[in-house]
Amino acid sequence: MLTVNNNFISFSIFEKFPELVCVMSMRGAGDLYIKNLRQPEKVQTFLSQLAIRPDELVSMEQVHCEHVAVVNKEFRGKTIPGVDGLIASERGIYLGVNAGDCVPIFFYDPKTLMTGVIHAGHRSTYLLITAEFIRFAERQGVRVTNLLVAIGPHIGGCCYEVSDHLAHVFKTRFPSEQVVFQTQNKWHVDLGEANKLSLLELGVLPEHIDVPITCTSCQNDRYFSYRKDSKATFGEMLGVIGIRTV
Ligand SMILES: [Zn+2]
Repeated sequence: MLTVNNNFISFSIFEKFPELVCVMSMRGAGDLYIKNLRQPEKVQTFLSQLAIRPDELVSMEQVHCEHVAVVNKEFRGKTIPGVDGLIASERGIYLGVNAGDCVPIFFYDPKTLMTGVIHAGHRSTYLLITAEFIRFAERQGVRVTNLLVAIGPHIGGCCYEVSDHLAHVFKTRFPSEQVVFQTQNKWHVDLGEANKLSLLELGVLPEHIDVPITCTSCQNDRYFSYRKDSKATFGEMLGVIGIRTV
């Protein structure tokens, strides 16, 4: 479930935590690529709607790997190289993720105040970045059964057509027909479902996973889609998670 507000969406699983900020921008907010700020004024405008300053944000290089970094306030304003996942356990630090078909996944543990984010494209999904993330979270003192998870807008299995080779590779790791399936003789992979199944196997409770029904390609009027958009019309959406200082 999600609620739409202006140029961003938020997730119902996090609604009862007013100090927690967790949103994903929509197409209307524009291209919010944060690695080297293609359009810094748009990022600034978007973050100011959330009462966040750009120098409070930590971003990641997003190289389609399984690596995760634990960050603290000293990393604010920086881009962490070589990772597709971030974890923080402090207030006043906001973790950023860019996506436009890949799967953004947000985590919150109300007990330890850990926040986290993953950027899961097909490589990171296959490499089980979810497992790496949970290992790191547990090292931070998080109990997996307390974790709340929101899987953000991404390309659905409906529209993510893949090669025979990729389908075969994915089947070896995710044998479920909900993850790898054929439609009209073409192979499709559901990356959101693959990550959800991984999280369930790792011990996250099913009622703690929020997967709004979204497909960036089917709902291209609302979201950017790397596959559906042209080079000229594509932009990156920005997801942010963090806890306000009190
Ligand atoms: Zn679709």
